[in-house]
Amino acid sequence: MTNIPEPAWFPIALRLDDVRVLVIGGGMIAANKVRLLLAHRAKVEVVAGRLDAEMQVWAEDGSITHVASTADDTTLRTIMPGCRLVYAATDDRAVNRTAAALAQEMNIPVCAVDDPQPSTFITPAQIHRGLVRIAISTGGAAPVLARRLREQVESTIPDGTGELAVFMQQQREHVGAACPDISRRRQVWETFLDGAGAQAARRGEIERARAILDDIIASTGTRGEVWLVGAGPGDPDLLTLRALHLMQNADCVLYDQLLSPALLDRVRRDAELVFVGKRRNKHTMPQQEINAELVRRARMGQRVLRLKGGDPFVFGRGGEEIEALLDSAIPFQVVPGITAANGCAAYAGIPLTHRDCAQACMFVTGHARADGTLHLPWDSMARPGQTVVIYMGVSALPALCAQLMTHGLPADWPAAIVERGTRADQRVLTGTLGGLARQAADAGVGSPALIIVGEVIRHRVISP
Ligand code: SAH
Repeated sequence: MTNIPEPAWFPIALRLDDVRVLVIGGGMIAANKVRLLLAHRAKVEVVAGRLDAEMQVWAEDGSITHVASTADDTTLRTIMPGCRLVYAATDDRAVNRTAAALAQEMNIPVCAVDDPQPSTFITPAQIHRGLVRIAISTGGAAPVLARRLREQVESTIPDGTGELAVFMQQQREHVGAACPDISRRRQVWETFLDGAGAQAARRGEIERARAILDDIIASTGTRGEVWLVGAGPGDPDLLTLRALHLMQNADCVLYDQLLSPALLDRVRRDAELVFVGKRRNKHTMPQQEINAELVRRARMGQRVLRLKGGDPFVFGRGGEEIEALLDSAIPFQVVPGITAANGCAAYAGIPLTHRDCAQACMFVTGHARADGTLHLPWDSMARPGQTVVIYMGVSALPALCAQLMTHGLPADWPAAIVERGTRADQRVLTGTLGGLARQAADAGVGSPALIIVGEVIRHRVISP
């Protein structure tokens, strides 16, 4: 397979008012760019031997300056200096490339249309709603995909979004003066956007929008709160809508190592990310300190998101964090997440219960005590007719399997381990209590991994 180089296009928005832009070409491809540039009030100069009808009209009414010439080296060297952007938009790729090389030599950003390779910038597909610009690009790789995405996004942008942006622009100073504290200000705007005020602004009912905004300013407290949110086992598609909403609204996010980077990508860009991770035997922040940090930040008026892998109330110490908040009278919300047992089982194709062989399912922790011992209800775990799911059991896997056999399960009893479940690099090993520890060691299974024990593993299904 050839390795396709991926230029990393960095999106920015340029101000083009009165900026000299050179467009090379007089046909339809060039006209499409010129139309866009004129809409942004650029000063467009077009080098072309002849112009198509639409371009001709622009030349005649003075919207563009026409340099009637081929795109030869002398002409371009004369006209290019002082231009801030160059579009090489003829239908001749070689001509475009020569022009692009010249622009690069002069350090002028250049876009050779439909040819990312010699280009230093590209023009993304765009959605315009007044001040609001949404740009979508595949880096020139798949324009049809970009257009499809644009249609999808466009259909979700409410009418009046441009008007809403203008209203917010006009009220910025007012809100800034009323709420000097930045996190409170953000809270005001977010409450406004979620409510009737934004609807009014979209419809152009400025007085009403302003009255609602003032109500919000008067009532938005400086009291922070904490959201204890389960983020699921790793695949971002398994986030709940509520989790996503809160991730978009938090002032800061306290997270630990179970959180996959793909999840953190969904957090609002300007939220503060605070790592409070702890690895077994490598405590980076003790639980009391995390609790204290939650309280401290909420008291400062922040909306604090405590993001947890899986579900916060399943081996997540969510209960302890809530108690600390309650003791300090901090308001909180708990949002459930898909726990590792559910996520791993589904993505590995292993049902957790099955009419034929498992009428119950038990979640246990395989986390050994400080002295290395495991205190678990072995007799109730080592029974047929049920599934046992073991969290945090990788390091104690040999001992776990041995104990289950000592307490009555046969060595050929099915057992499986799901490593990094639901993530792109998920691995599933299936075997038996007698052999799983060896298999896992040979495969170098690491954390996070979940152990599933029971006959349900024989019912594992994998989609064709
Ligand atoms: N609150 C979490 C569990 C925290 S305990 C939840 O509800 O899922 C941490 C343990 O969860 C890990 O040691 C591992 O056993 C399990 N775990 C979490 N995410 C996992 C994943 N993506 N794949 C496999 N196991 C996972």
